[in-house]
Amino acid sequence: MSDLDLSDTPDSDFLGFELLLDDEDRKLVERVREFMLTHVEPVINGFWTRAEFPHELVPGLADLGIAGLQYDGPGCPGRSSLLDGMVAMEMARVDASMQTFMGVHGGLAMGSVQLCGSDEQRERWLPAMARMELIGAFGLTEPEVGSGIAGGLATTARREGDEWVLDGEKKWIGNASFADLVVIWARDEADDQVKGFVVEKGAEGMTFDVTQDKIALRVVQNAEIHLAGVRVPEANRLQGASSFEDTAKVLKVTRMGVAWQATGCARGAYEHALRYTLERQQFGQPIAGFQLVQDLLVKMLSNVVASTAMCVRVSQLQDAGLVKDEHASLAKAFTTARMRETVGWAREVLGGNGILLEHHVGRFVADAEAIYSYEGTREINTLIVGRAITGESAFV
Ligand SMILES: Cc1cc2nc3c(=O)[nH]c(=O)nc-3n(C[C@H](O)[C@H](O)[C@H](O)COP(=O)(O)OP(=O)(O)OC[C@H]3O[C@@H](n4cnc5c(N)ncnc54)[C@H](O)[C@@H]3O)c2cc1C
Repeated sequence: MSDLDLSDTPDSDFLGFELLLDDEDRKLVERVREFMLTHVEPVINGFWTRAEFPHELVPGLADLGIAGLQYDGPGCPGRSSLLDGMVAMEMARVDASMQTFMGVHGGLAMGSVQLCGSDEQRERWLPAMARMELIGAFGLTEPEVGSGIAGGLATTARREGDEWVLDGEKKWIGNASFADLVVIWARDEADDQVKGFVVEKGAEGMTFDVTQDKIALRVVQNAEIHLAGVRVPEANRLQGASSFEDTAKVLKVTRMGVAWQATGCARGAYEHALRYTLERQQFGQPIAGFQLVQDLLVKMLSNVVASTAMCVRVSQLQDAGLVKDEHASLAKAFTTARMRETVGWAREVLGGNGILLEHHVGRFVADAEAIYSYEGTREINTLIVGRAITGESAFV
């Protein structure tokens, strides 16, 4: 029997999932929580309103040592997927934009190098990325193709001697405008296969238009990337990526990160809502004492607990090397739907104050809309699970 007690975990961890972690891992989760509450929560609404990224917070994030947390490449922390997920949830519980920034850098960009790079490429880039001295971005989606990217990717790569020439357009690429390394997925004109290229900051012919007027994740700097005859050395082509199946290996890992993020977003909204209902008085008593309000609070908590349980199990499968695409897709589709429901209920119990940034819930409601759609929409993840359980592909 463990001498741990449920009171050792936060109240919103109702079934004590954190107790699945060992002491060292739990300490890291607590450090992340402390950082987010102390340094991010007090300032984030201002950055959200101004649609600015708080670059000054990056050294503090780097000190946490969480970039590429579950990768075991050179200089990487090499911790479990379960810990990686719980850290993602912890960040999103306070702010989903900062977690997206880390997910793009430490999940997608570092994951591309880790899972699709050669030993030499891992040695060259991962240690500095883990220290966050080099920040990464991941360029897959295009203006004309999102869900259908596997077959429809139009950016081209043409080999000329020891170089490749990239031409095309990317859309929605997080961190791209300030990243040191942008992973660009392009179709090799010679064999029609999708390959990955690490394009370094300042490459001639690569320009950006930062996306304006977003109503979600406003802190994240998304950009359209224009690639006009960008020359990349063969040494920067990810040597282990020879088709879209290799790109998909990265997405399988990061899709789980988004499921954890959605769970964190729902949990943060629930916590703010619970606190508010205990403080807010109507008809001479805290609104938390009304049956209809408790009904919503309990439904929110149920969503958070069910989502966490699903994420925990899929991460355990990932740690055991047993995870399949459909597992990550089920988790992403389920948790994001539960998140959307939960943030809506949180907003509801705040009444009019629910639409003010001041109480944070309004930001969670808005940010949830982006999380719901990226890394595979609910429809696409549903089709992946549907294909797995029926053996019939309903993709058209
Ligand atoms: C804030 C944000 C950040 C992002 N960051 C990145 C990033 O860093 N890097 C990157 O590469 N991409 C990024 N993306 C892109 C993201 O992955 C895409 O938005 C997503 O894959 C969906 O593509 P789409 O927006 O083009 O929608 P579409 O593919 O046009 O889909 C529109 C609608 O049609 C539905 N649909 C499409 N096909 C089918 C079908 N066969 N059956 C049923 N329904 C279907 C979809 O589910 C959706 O509801 C980001 C997006 C956002 C919003």
